[in-house]
Amino acid sequence: MVILRGCDLKMYKLIRKNGSIRIGVIQINGKSAEAPCFFATSDFGGGGTNVSRLLVYSDIFINTNSQLLMNYYYLDINSDLSPRFDTKLVKEILKFKDINQFIQHIKKTYLFSEPKKAIVNFKYDGSKEWRPVVLLDSGSGNILRGKIKRKEITHENYKAEYQKIVKEYFDFSILNKFDMIIAIDFAGKNTLKAGEKNDQDYVAGVVEFSSNERNLELLKLTLDFMKDNKPNMHVLAPIHGNSPDEYEKYIKDILELERKENCKFSGFAIGGLGNPNKINKDIWAIPEGSNAKVKAALYLMKISSIVRASLDDLNDDRPIHILGSASPYNLIPLIFAGCDTFDCHSAWRRSSDGNERSKECVFDKIQFEKYDLEGVTVSFSKLLVPLLNSNLDVIEENKEKFLEFVNINNYEYQCGCAICKNIKLDELKKLYCGNKEENYYAKILIYLHNILQYDYICEKMRSLSNENEFKNFIESLPESQFKENMMRVLFS
Ligand SMILES: [Zn+2]
Repeated sequence: MVILRGCDLKMYKLIRKNGSIRIGVIQINGKSAEAPCFFATSDFGGGGTNVSRLLVYSDIFINTNSQLLMNYYYLDINSDLSPRFDTKLVKEILKFKDINQFIQHIKKTYLFSEPKKAIVNFKYDGSKEWRPVVLLDSGSGNILRGKIKRKEITHENYKAEYQKIVKEYFDFSILNKFDMIIAIDFAGKNTLKAGEKNDQDYVAGVVEFSSNERNLELLKLTLDFMKDNKPNMHVLAPIHGNSPDEYEKYIKDILELERKENCKFSGFAIGGLGNPNKINKDIWAIPEGSNAKVKAALYLMKISSIVRASLDDLNDDRPIHILGSASPYNLIPLIFAGCDTFDCHSAWRRSSDGNERSKECVFDKIQFEKYDLEGVTVSFSKLLVPLLNSNLDVIEENKEKFLEFVNINNYEYQCGCAICKNIKLDELKKLYCGNKEENYYAKILIYLHNILQYDYICEKMRSLSNENEFKNFIESLPESQFKENMMRVLFS
């Protein structure tokens, strides 16, 4: 059998559609993931040893369908950034032939290190090995921003620089056997910080290199590399824009580029979405009186629908990944709009929001009020209020705050996830207030609780057998703001 390599790799198989909802499977390198599915974010460099802890602790409970997303910007120790975080560990990545071997190595390193481990008598069980599909995001916004600022990429030399960046990125992903990668690009949105606007060369550079023209050149170089080298690597093309028209034009331009080059990406990734609260309601045709949550969901759905419709026109089944903006609240709308895979950093960010002071305040309201009066910042880690339990039934008691994040000191909601079945809320709070290691442990348990909710929602969507069942599911939700918002964005 001839294995297709490089230019028309297929990783996604559409199994059926419930209206606009797609049920499918991703198969890469002997791994398989039912979709829709979620990618937990985890940057070895960025998260320091917390990631080691995550990987170890997840083994205790893990029965997750989540896959894993990492970031080249933090991992590439040869980049101009020089490693900033857990560099000793990250430097070892090149010794491993396979990213999953590196993951195993990280776990063992952590387990044999001292003084570690919040859990007494914890034994590593290799049979519980989590073998996620691993997607590498380029973080190229950060990489290019640095190069533009330092004038290493200029109008004069960019073609050669682009070629170098694309090659280095492929070399790294191939060497470490990632399963999928997001192609290099540069979205200009939210790039310029206040102080940077005076640096005119930098501003001009950002404008030039975030243009569609330059980004399409980068995508062309990516396709050229795929044609010449035929790497066994699934590449997703990133899509961005500032208005519905721009998104439509950009996806069409990419499809046209693929035709010209006779080479295809494995799928698409919608990224650089910015803050939905800052969008112009008129451009995006958001109805008057929409609240912030409705507005954000409609904005994300609109973009996804534009991309999906352009693909549908060509009977093109390729998957769409939502890069970084799939908050739990928007997950159902995004699946409804025809998206397949998702990542979002808020589950991790909210679980690690807790600062040292907050440990004193979880059980002590008076101390919290005292700090508040003194103007001392107290920031708590946050748990996601679940919509579904592990049997995929709606938890009616939680309806006031479905899929919102709530501070650990005020959190008192029902959950039936693998974490909450094993650790009582009070126990979790005590761990959170404990020593450094116990606090880390609690935060990771919170993170796992948060991401399991993504799993359950995706699984629920996959379990519905037709469009009517989906509609019934939404209609049978307990009366709540969440239901009202969902009805508005999905069915009106
Ligand atoms: Zn839970």
